[in-house]
Amino acid sequence: MATVETVGGVLDVEQLGLTLIHEHFFSSDEAVTAQWPHVREHDRELELAIESADAVKAHGVKTVVEPTAMLLGRDARASKRLADETGLQIVLCTGIYTYDHLPEFLLNRSEDYIADLFVHDIERGIQGTGIKAAFVKCAADEPGVNERVEKVHRAAARAAMRTGVPVMAHSRPASGTGPRQVEIFLEEGLPPEKIQIAHTGDTDDLDYIESLLEKGVWIGMDRYGIDLFLPTDKRNATVLELLNRGYAERMFLSQDFDIPIANGLDWYPPEVVEQLQATGAATDWSMTFLFESVIPTLKDGGMTDEQLETMMVENPKRWLGV
Ligand SMILES: [Zn+2]
Repeated sequence: MATVETVGGVLDVEQLGLTLIHEHFFSSDEAVTAQWPHVREHDRELELAIESADAVKAHGVKTVVEPTAMLLGRDARASKRLADETGLQIVLCTGIYTYDHLPEFLLNRSEDYIADLFVHDIERGIQGTGIKAAFVKCAADEPGVNERVEKVHRAAARAAMRTGVPVMAHSRPASGTGPRQVEIFLEEGLPPEKIQIAHTGDTDDLDYIESLLEKGVWIGMDRYGIDLFLPTDKRNATVLELLNRGYAERMFLSQDFDIPIANGLDWYPPEVVEQLQATGAATDWSMTFLFESVIPTLKDGGMTDEQLETMMVENPKRWLGV
């Protein structure tokens, strides 16, 4: 029996059900939280998280996978409160969300030391709780796969290989990071079926996407609603063409919705969020946009119920199950 760790404990993967593979209920700047805790609005954050959790449940979602890692404000206790209050199954990660910077503590220690930290979260639990991480997250973005990012990728691969959990890598197609990220994981010996290259759906360059798929990895078509990177109609056309080419078993659909960011509680103050909305950067972004708009459009375009079930029920089981 393949299993997966959730904040409520270990589950048979058959219990995952309809799954959103990439959404953020909680995110925050950890340094600001530690030094100026008075600027955080924990009650408001929980309230908004419950609102979105209830909204996705109303669409039949049973599980949300939350890749909020170190430097993005992972908070296992907050996730536990949310799961307890709503009954939603939440899957957490270990890992580091960085495009460039690493704290000196990690900069001056080895890949294997960092892998040990990740393994701790996977085998013992996160932040002193018994809640275990179900996958490892890392990231590469505009600065490319630099030395620090490569170190985190190698540590992620080693922790994944020691424990059997998969890796999710935030990527930036516009900077062409995906192929090098995959190459590092494969060099470390991580099997391709354990690798998910998130945000691949930020491009409609089918040659780029197929060059990743040819390696046998999973891809995240996971930023529906972030028009800033690619508008919805182009995301849909790309997904439909990939379905035509037979890749349903390799793709995930999600939104990378981030509640604190979308509500002016973290990265951007409320007035900047309003400006972003006004310019159309993320007008439709929400945790239910997929169900309200994207899935009906994809179905009109020829996506079958079976393909949808593959992407949102079967693939999460196959990627997460250990
Ligand atoms: Zn994300």
